[in-house]
Parts: sequence; C-alpha cells; structure tokens
Amino acid sequence: MTTSAEWELVIGLEVHVQLKTDSKIFCGCATSFGEDPNANTCPVCLGLPGALPVLNAKAVELAARTALALGCTVQPVSVFARKNYFYPDLPKGYQISQFDRPIALAGWLPAGPDARRIGITRVHMEEDAGKSIHDRFPGWSAIDLNRAGTPLVEIVSEPDLRTSAEARDYLQRLKEILEYTEVSDANMEEGSLRVDANVSIRPAGSETLGTKTEIKNMNSFSNVERAIEVERLRQIGLLERGERVVSQTLLWDADRGQVRPQRSKEESHDYRYFPEPDLPLLALSAEWIEAQRSALPELPAARRERLQSAFGVSAYDAGVITADRALADYFEEVCAAHGDARVAATWVMGEVLAWLNNNRSAIRDFPITAGRLARLLDLVRDGTLSRTAAKKVFDLLLHESGEPRVIAEREGLVQVSDDTALEIWVDAVIADHPAEVERLKGGEKKLLGVLVGQVMKRSGGRADPKRVNQLLAVKLGG
Ligand SMILES: [Zn+2]
Repeated sequence: MTTSAEWELVIGLEVHVQLKTDSKIFCGCATSFGEDPNANTCPVCLGLPGALPVLNAKAVELAARTALALGCTVQPVSVFARKNYFYPDLPKGYQISQFDRPIALAGWLPAGPDARRIGITRVHMEEDAGKSIHDRFPGWSAIDLNRAGTPLVEIVSEPDLRTSAEARDYLQRLKEILEYTEVSDANMEEGSLRVDANVSIRPAGSETLGTKTEIKNMNSFSNVERAIEVERLRQIGLLERGERVVSQTLLWDADRGQVRPQRSKEESHDYRYFPEPDLPLLALSAEWIEAQRSALPELPAARRERLQSAFGVSAYDAGVITADRALADYFEEVCAAHGDARVAATWVMGEVLAWLNNNRSAIRDFPITAGRLARLLDLVRDGTLSRTAAKKVFDLLLHESGEPRVIAEREGLVQVSDDTALEIWVDAVIADHPAEVERLKGGEKKLLGVLVGQVMKRSGGRADPKRVNQLLAVKLGG
C-alpha cells in the first residue's frame, strides 16, 4: 500500500488577469469599476445582433508586455476564436478568446525556495463575461454586463508545481511581475487576478499524470494554498480506499475549508471552438514586438540581484524591498540621497515597514518623503543626532512636514559634542561620584562605562557618548 508520503502532488495554475485599459477589449465602453449596473454597455458588449467587435490596441500591448515579462515568445500571428457556451451573463452565447493560436507561448517563472523554473505553456487574450447577481432582489436574479468585454489575459502554467507552498510562491512572483510591468492591478480580492488550480496526485516516481480536478473560487493566495492541500488529502483518501478521482470542477468553500463539486469538467471539444469570423488575424511585426520588449521595466528578479550586488543589501532584505515596486523605488531614492545603502535598508526594513504594517498602508501613503528620511539619516551620520534621538525625530516627521534638522533643534535633541559644554557635565559627574572615581583609578576599568552613563543621563541623552568617554579617560588618567 502506498502511504501519503509516497504520493507526488502535481499542480498547474491558470491565472486570469484583468488588463489595465480604459476601455473594453472589443468596444469603446469604459472599464471603470463601481458604476450603475449596465451603465458601461453598448450594442457590442450587450451582444446585440449585427454589432461588430474592434480590437483594442492597448489591450494587445499589455498582453504582449505580460508575455514578454514571463519569457514567452510572442507569436507573429495569433487568432481569436469563439468559445461557445450558454450562460446568462454571456449574452452572445460565446466568449471571444484564443484557442489553438494564442498570442504567446513557452515562458517560465522562477518559484519556490530554490527558484525552480516553472514552465508557462501559453498566454492568451480573451474577454471577460458579465456578472449574475443572485442576492440583491429576493426571488430574482439580475445581470450586470458592465464587466462583459473587459480585457483579460489567461496565463497557463505547465503542471510543474509540486507543493501548495510552491504554487503560492509562483502566484506571488507572478503578481510582482504584473505590478512591475503595470499591466494590471493584480488584486485578487477585487477580482482583477483570478486563479484556477489543476490538481492531481500520482505515486512518487511515476511519469504518468493522474486524473486531475480543477479548483475554482479561491479569493486569496492563502486560500489557494489551503484549497490545494485539502484537495491533495481528499485525492489520497480516495485512491487509498480503492476509489478513483473523477475529473470535475470543484468550488472552494473557505468558511468550511472544503471543496465541493460544481460540475463535471468540460473538454475543449465541448466548446466547439472556431475562428472568430468578425475579427482579422492578429499580426504583430518583429519591430513592434521588440519595441514592447525594450519598453519593459527592470523586473523584480533582476532588481533583487542588483540591490544585493550594487547596494550590498542582504538577500532577505532585497526580497522584502522588491516585493513592492513602489517600496523599492522609495528605498533607492533614500539610498541615492543619503549614500549609505545599509543604513537606508535598516531604516526601511525597520521603522518604515513597521509603520506601513501598523497602519495597513502602502508606501505611497507614507508621510515621510525619501528626501526627508535621507536628511534624517545624514544627521545621524554626521553626529548631530544619536540613533535614539533620530527615532524621536522620525516619529515627529510622521505627523508634521518640517525639516529633520529644524525639528531636532526645536526639540533640543541635537547631540552635544562641543568640549566646553561636555566638560561641565563631566566635571559635575566626577564631583558627585568620588568613590567610583577612586575605584576606577585603582584599576576597575568597567566603572568608566558607569560614569559615561551618568553623564548621558545628566545631559538628557544629548551628550556625544564617544567624546564623553574620551574626556573622562583623559581626566581620570584612564
Ligand atoms: Zn460596449
């Protein structure tokens, strides 16, 4: 009998990504969110007879950019096809998608702790369907077609993923790329990124794929991870009881932590695909494709490498900082203005991230500009502020717009390193602690630290501890 440790999990992911265009893929209707139901519609996206689709050039550009960022080959010619099925929120009775000739093929994405290459089979373009609303009017279902015709790309991976954690990491890396390339908001909660997981198991060492099920309705990365794990155990249970896995679509129920069958799985021939007769072939020139490639920004993996090699940031810190493009931009601005990348990394990873996490905010809402933070760090480097005083100024900068130096002076936090001022405190401490001074002179060197501490206390933390140390040593012959 095969034990659960001897089953290998095989996962492939299909990710639908809403492209960030102003208008729909085949008509001029707005893609804006939150309008009145059916406000963003016209004869084309309502599927009225005789209305003709016209392809949105911006959507093609964003789809190509997505594919190129994933290392895919953009095809010189691709074909739109009708995928026929009936659904109340699909008024045409078919969805315009791409079938045997998608816009791009054969890419990959590094995922998991060892950055294994996960193959990407294809990227294709398609239109979104509308929405059925079942809970607004008791006894009635309503249709909102505002979303019908929103441009999507579907990114289909090879069945290369082996653990639910690796699948989650793949999604995280993919989301980063979508954000860096600015092709999508890639927000799972808002539905601009949707994931379906194909899951099967097989005895470890087997080359044959087991029967797969498809899980839908997962609305966060952690739910994808949980759902795959639940399905893995369900399939192992079936096979170990001598039953078989049925090919079907399953819905994830996050509240119950269960999957439940939705319908038996369709095969592609069920959709009776055929080339869309109302649209020409999509022909992209080599020059156009190269122009899209050269317009790509630096991608997250390359940026992680650069932060480590050029700035000496640790691998862990580089991973955290580059996970959000805007945060990485902020970090690089602080570095450029201040000059010391390690210090900048310490503050961004520490104080800045702590504030963002506590306030559940993004870096664009962070009240301290990169320039102001850099000038605060300058004050620590040149000895004007101690690290403790700098932290106090940082807290004030969160709530007011002044310059760090001005605020530090106003609050009396500027470090005193002028000997005349320091000697007043040093002499007073020596006079107040004759016993300690005697023992120090007698060889108890560790008492020097105690006396430095007393001077710091007397100065309200403003004395420069290094200079105080030197002055005491000189005066007491240490
Ligand atoms: Zn329309």
